[in-house]
Amino acid sequence: MSDFVITAPAVPSVAVAGSNARFPVRRVFCVGRNYASHAREMGSDPNREPPFFFTKPADAVVPASATVPYPTETTDLHHEVELVVALGVGGANVSPDEALKMVWGYGVGLDLTRRDLQSAAKDTGRPWDMAKGFDASAPCSELHPVGQVGYPAKGRIWLEVNGELRQQGDLGEMIWPVADVISYLSRFVKLAPGDLIYSGTPSGVAALVPGDRVRGGVDGVGSFELEIGEQ
Ligand code: MN
Repeated sequence: MSDFVITAPAVPSVAVAGSNARFPVRRVFCVGRNYASHAREMGSDPNREPPFFFTKPADAVVPASATVPYPTETTDLHHEVELVVALGVGGANVSPDEALKMVWGYGVGLDLTRRDLQSAAKDTGRPWDMAKGFDASAPCSELHPVGQVGYPAKGRIWLEVNGELRQQGDLGEMIWPVADVISYLSRFVKLAPGDLIYSGTPSGVAALVPGDRVRGGVDGVGSFELEIGEQ
């Protein structure tokens, strides 16, 4: 037993479908603009520039169920539905051919974004952290092991708010497929078991308000349903 001067924080974790065991979260990496349609709606050139990454704290990951709180300090909270990749094996400088061997499983998550703060950060050249990495900013569904869902390269990714379809795309439209994302990211950091990668969102991002019911999913992987809490 280690001698910590305060109580050690709990290990953040994600539920695993069909199991009582949980997936421990080490770090959360997010890919920016990985679908051409979303790159275009954000005013960017969807040509195949190298992917870029930002991070969220591990404890920003919360269940994508029940109620997710509406965060403070924003009036423009956006949904971004994303395929979540959970790594069970680490590695550095991994080739795209080897990358998928590191994947433990997949889930579906939300990269919640204070879009107003992100726009201000872009305008001023400041970091995105408070726009992207706030408390409960990374709701995630149960994870499904690759033994059950394989390595999905195609499949509809979608999000509904109050029964209305807001986002729809296909995993096959990713500018950088999951293997390439893992390979590229592993050049910058040594990836480790427990790392999650939120792999980008298709077009249709828009604002959520308290009381919204949000359903999202990736066909062949899984789905979630949650409510946005009061401000
Ligand atoms: Mn995103």
